[in-house]
Amino acid sequence: MDIIVLRPDTSEEDIRHILKKLESKGLKANVSQGTERTIIGVIGDTSKITEEEEDAIRAANGVENVVRIVKPYKLASRDFKKDNTEINVRGIIIGGKKIPVIAGPCAVEGKDILAGIAEKVKAAGATFLRGGAYKPRTSPYSFQGLGEEGLKYLAAARDKTGLPVVTEIMDPRDMDVMMEYTDIIQIGARNMQNFRLLLEVGSVNKPVMLKRGLSSTIKEWLMSAEYIMSRGNHNVILCERGIRTFETATRNTLDLSAVPLLKQLTHLPVVVDPSHGVGKWDLVAPMSKAAIAAGADGLIIEVHTNPEEAFSDGEQSLKPDFFAKLMQEMKPIAQAVGREI
Ligand code: PEP
Ligand code: MN
Repeated sequence: MDIIVLRPDTSEEDIRHILKKLESKGLKANVSQGTERTIIGVIGDTSKITEEEEDAIRAANGVENVVRIVKPYKLASRDFKKDNTEINVRGIIIGGKKIPVIAGPCAVEGKDILAGIAEKVKAAGATFLRGGAYKPRTSPYSFQGLGEEGLKYLAAARDKTGLPVVTEIMDPRDMDVMMEYTDIIQIGARNMQNFRLLLEVGSVNKPVMLKRGLSSTIKEWLMSAEYIMSRGNHNVILCERGIRTFETATRNTLDLSAVPLLKQLTHLPVVVDPSHGVGKWDLVAPMSKAAIAAGADGLIIEVHTNPEEAFSDGEQSLKPDFFAKLMQEMKPIAQAVGREI
């Protein structure tokens, strides 16, 4: 909060009351009395004022409006750090000129099938392998993932192909095995506001890809990034994966406007997941291209050698040949926006 606008009829006593409140927070104030309005400019580290305290000031006698210039998230904010954050994962930079592509199945289904997919996406030019070992399924009767065994298969596929691995954590109790096998820890949409889990991944030395919550605002999303960063882990990657809207023709509504907006608000890299964003394989290619045109720092795309038989998300998974074609088609688009793929 930086500026407090007072109503014309505010009494001296009301002003004194507000100034006292600010003083108690160690802040100084500059009162400028105009003919129409009195404005209090707040000087000092206004991030110390919590949202609740800001609301209380807004509700105080005589206050017309409170304008916060300093964002409620600090570490994640572009105001705090001007330069883009670049995250180095086994020599691959996320947030630099080159756009990494994370590809692989929704879930790790078996050792050989994963190895086969990994080889194919690597040949197509992907730079990371994805695959869930712990799957957040809507139904408790659906395939829940292979757990630690799945993590081992991911690590084995990495050994074969050299592709670093991205996989989801759902439970802090799995942190030790996660640390052993994965290169990037994914926080899924359903856990974006699992604050205890966020603090746990904030305490480890491993990059975190934070997916946008099912119905989360950009501010809530950045506050979740702040949770992770507040514990010392500043290697956070944001992943837009679509939000729930009234539209049911697509699985979610992929909010590509979030990409340029986030580039203004934060220094963190922004990755787009068109697969979960649309839920239909034949819409994935155009939205991947649009994401790059919008300034995405990376893509995460579901690829499966046999989508018809996939344990999960087959309907949105690309076959390897189609993925390879898409990789080629994205190159000129990346180039047109000063990037490389
Ligand atoms: C996934 O990446 O497979 C996944 C479950 O994604 P989301 O959390 O975005 O639904
Ligand atoms: Mn999936």
